[in-house]
Order: sequence, then C-alpha cells, then structure tokens
Amino acid sequence: MQTPTVASTVRAMRRAGAAGEPVPAEVAAAWAKVFMEQLYGSQKPVRYECRRRGSREPWEEAEPEDVANPRRRNLIIRALYLHPPVGKQQHRWPPGSNGDGRCLDCDEAEWLAGPDCRPHAPLRDHRSSMPFRITWLIQPLEQLHYLAKNLNPFDRDKWRKEATYLIDRIRDHEKGSQP
Ligand SMILES: [Zn+2]
Repeated sequence: MQTPTVASTVRAMRRAGAAGEPVPAEVAAAWAKVFMEQLYGSQKPVRYECRRRGSREPWEEAEPEDVANPRRRNLIIRALYLHPPVGKQQHRWPPGSNGDGRCLDCDEAEWLAGPDCRPHAPLRDHRSSMPFRITWLIQPLEQLHYLAKNLNPFDRDKWRKEATYLIDRIRDHEKGSQP
C-alpha cells in the first residue's frame, strides 16, 4: 500500500461521506494522523492563493489583505505548503460542467475528487514487445461473432460468417506453420 497523502486521505473521506456508512474510529484516527503530520507541522504556508468565490479562474497569489478579509472581498483563499508538495496538476473539468463532470485527465468525479490530479499511466500492452502472432486475432473475432447478436438478421449472418471463416483460416494457418 502507498503511504497516504493529504490528497488520498481527502479522497477517502469524500468516498466515505458519499457511501453514507459509519467509519470505524481507527480509520478516522488514521485520517487525522495524516493531516496532523502532513499539514499541521511546525510549518507556515509558503504562499497564499485566492480566487473569486464560485469562480473557475486560475488561482492567483493573494495579498495579505485578501488573506485577512476573504469574506469582505468575496474570495476563496488557499494556503500552500512546501510539504506536502503543491499539487503539480489541477483537475480539468469539462467546460460547462457544474460540479457533476469528470476530470478530463484522470476521470475522477468532480464531487469526490481529491486536491490533485493523478492521471493513470497508460498501461503498456505486453504484446507490443513480442513478434506479431496471427492467433491474437481469434479472440476479437470470437467477440465479433458474439456481439453480432445485436445486429439486424442480415448483418448478423454476414458478420458471423465472416468471423467463423477468418477463425477457421487462422487455425488452418497455425496448423500449417507448426514445425
Ligand atoms: Zn484530474
């Protein structure tokens, strides 16, 4: 398991809130421990940022008066600390989504997303490092045969015949090329 971060903890808390189930005391204690250690050490914020309440504008550096009077200035303030490191990437919400979209980069739902965006690394297909084998086509063709049930009768027959024919040819080819 990865060491919990503030971001992963916020995500876990929001998920628990969404599930609506009671959370065991030791889980709440573990969350508190992450925040105490990672947010409320003996450190001071290195930077304050602000933006207008309800806006989606990029965050801007806040003046000391902004931090002192956020309500009067109708601002949201956020404090950035050196530790944990400032999120490298902000989520990108689809234009026009109103709190119900999914991030364009990491696919996290907006209403339960944590503070930073961690897109999943694209999975590398193990086949890309191997010489091509024609038998890899059999499974997709079998799937085509199966999915053809959703087509109209004419297309269903056509694509089932096509898939069956190709699978047979591939099997013949494999037999012929065995040493
Ligand atoms: Zn994201």
